[in-house]
Order: sequence, then C-alpha cells, then structure tokens
Amino acid sequence: MSAKLIKGTEIREEILEEITKEVAEIKEKHGKVPGLVTILVGENPASVSYVTLKIKTAHRVGFHEIQDNQPPDISEEDLLAIIDKYNKDDDIHGILVQLPLPKHIDDKKVLNAIDPDKDVDGFHPVNVGRLMIGGSEVKFPPCTPAGIQEMIVRAGVETEGAEVVVVGRSNIVGKPIAVMMMQKGRGANSTVTVVHTRTKNLDEHCKRADILIVAAGVPGLVKPEWIKPGACVIDVGVNRVGEKISEKTGKKVAILRGDVDFEAAKEIAGYITPVPGGVGPMTITMLMKNTLNSLKFKLGLM
Ligand code: NAD
Repeated sequence: MSAKLIKGTEIREEILEEITKEVAEIKEKHGKVPGLVTILVGENPASVSYVTLKIKTAHRVGFHEIQDNQPPDISEEDLLAIIDKYNKDDDIHGILVQLPLPKHIDDKKVLNAIDPDKDVDGFHPVNVGRLMIGGSEVKFPPCTPAGIQEMIVRAGVETEGAEVVVVGRSNIVGKPIAVMMMQKGRGANSTVTVVHTRTKNLDEHCKRADILIVAAGVPGLVKPEWIKPGACVIDVGVNRVGEKISEKTGKKVAILRGDVDFEAAKEIAGYITPVPGGVGPMTITMLMKNTLNSLKFKLGLM
C-alpha cells in the first residue's frame, strides 16, 4: 500500500479532546457551557441511534445536552412552538431536528424556524448564504463538508492552487464542499470542478484532481485508473452492500463500501480515507465544534 490513510476515527479523538479542553476553560472563565438540544419525532430506529450518538458525544465533551423526544403524531404547530421555546432559551446554543420528520409535517418549514444563530447543522438558508459569502461571514459550515476540509488540513495536504474535483452536487455535501474549497482561507484557495450525473467524461475530470472528493452514493464508482498518482482521495460514500455477523457482538451488521474502489485506489493515491472509519466519524465531531463555536460567538470570543 502506498497511500497514507486519513483516519476519521483518529482525527475525531484529537478534535473531541480539543473541544473538551476548551469547554472546561470557558466554563471556568465565563461560567457557561455549550447547550445542545436534539429534537426527535417518533422512533425511527436509524434516527434514534443517530440522536443517541450525538447526545452521548455532547455529554462526553461537557455540553449541557437535552434529548427532546416527541410522539410521531405531534402537530406541526406544536413542533414549531417547541423550536420557538429553544430559540429563546439562553442556555441552548445549538438546535437539531432529526430528519426525516413524519409526512404530515413540512420539514422545510420546521428547519427554517430554527434561529440561524443556533442552526449548528448549517442548513438554514441564512447559513447557506453566509457560507457562500465566505470569510468572517461563515458561522456554521455544514458538518460533513467541514469534516472533510478538516481531514485534508490535518493530513497536511496542500490545498492552495490545488485542482479539486468534487463528484456529486447535493446540498449537504457536494455543493457546500465545492464552495468551501474555492474560498479564500485555510484549507481552501483551490481550483474547483464539480461533476455529476450529467457530466461528460467523468473519468477525464477525476484524472486531473490533486484532491478528489467523491460523494455520489454509488459503490465503487471511481475506478483506480481515474486517480492521479499521489492524489488525495476523500471517499464520502457510505453504501450498504450486504450484511455480516459482527465478530465483536455476534449481531448482524451492514457491510459498508465507499464510492471508490479502495483496495486498488490505495496503491495509486497519496492519501485516502477508508470506509468505514473515514469521513463518517467527522460529521458528529464537527457538529460539536459548531455548537462550541455558537457559544463562543455569543460570548464574543470569536
Ligand atoms: P445525494 O444522492 O443527495 O447526491 C449524490 C450526488 O452524486 C448527486 O448530485 C448526483 O448527481 C451525483 N451522482 C450520483 N451518481 C453519479 C454518477 N454515476 N456519476 C456522477 N455523479 C453521480 O447524496 P449525498 O447526500 O450527497 O450523499 C452521497 C454519499 O455520501 C452517500 O453514500 C451518503 O451515504 C454519503 N454521506 C456520508 C456522510 C458521512 O459520512 N458523514 C454524510 C452525508 C452523506
């Protein structure tokens, strides 16, 4: 294997320790800790496990955390009233509404009701606008793209003037990471190309990339011959391709594959992220960072 592995599991530990330390310092100096509320409607098993992990991580770094569970038949009006309550709560700095919401609730309406200054997911149109403007306007970069950028920086990969090719144009990964990499600043200043399902000669674009960020959701889409030797390959894809029995727990678990043919790609790339254990762990980590920053903005520390 020639490529250096960029492990999200290790970077997560580094960042969570930094956050824990900063939370303790702020608590001592200012008597405040970041407050995060997660609102879960119903009992969708995947949502329950995401929310549990978010709350567990928030607890670990010393946040004030609230898990607000609501029944599946809650009305839209009542849910909006709950968001309004947390918008006004001075001890809450981050509000998360776990998606998907039941069909009778308009999720856009709900997400747009969150105070943009507590929107630590970074999905509110105000925060999308701030991201587009860049620089000091940016408050909460969306968590998965923020995690990708942080991994690139911490791996020591040069981004200035680099050819970055992003595969995928979703609102949660492709578009925001493309914007972030082209902005001025740390871990950015790159020349960015975005490719998608309507792109001609996908392979030719990928071959030019010094940094190839793949978020398509198609297992093994990127072939080893599409990778420039020595390139940094960030594989965002998480695709369930089967099931196996876990050696640790004896329970059935999903077999996960990325969008890149990892085994072959790692012989050509200079840096590569594994799946699982690559980008995945970074999303909740950056959510914690955004929540800490929300308090820091409020205290005038940023
Ligand atoms: P999405 O389906 O919303 O968007 C996929 C994008 O890829 C689309 O813009 C589409 O045009 C493009 N695309 C699809 N097939 C393509 C092809 N054959 N050629 C070129 N472009 C193609 O997906 P998403 O929400 O951006 O997620 C992408 C992948 O990343 C998924 O596997 C998802 O599970 C994963 N993901 C992981 C994390 C994480 O690890 N924390 C977070 C978000 C998404």
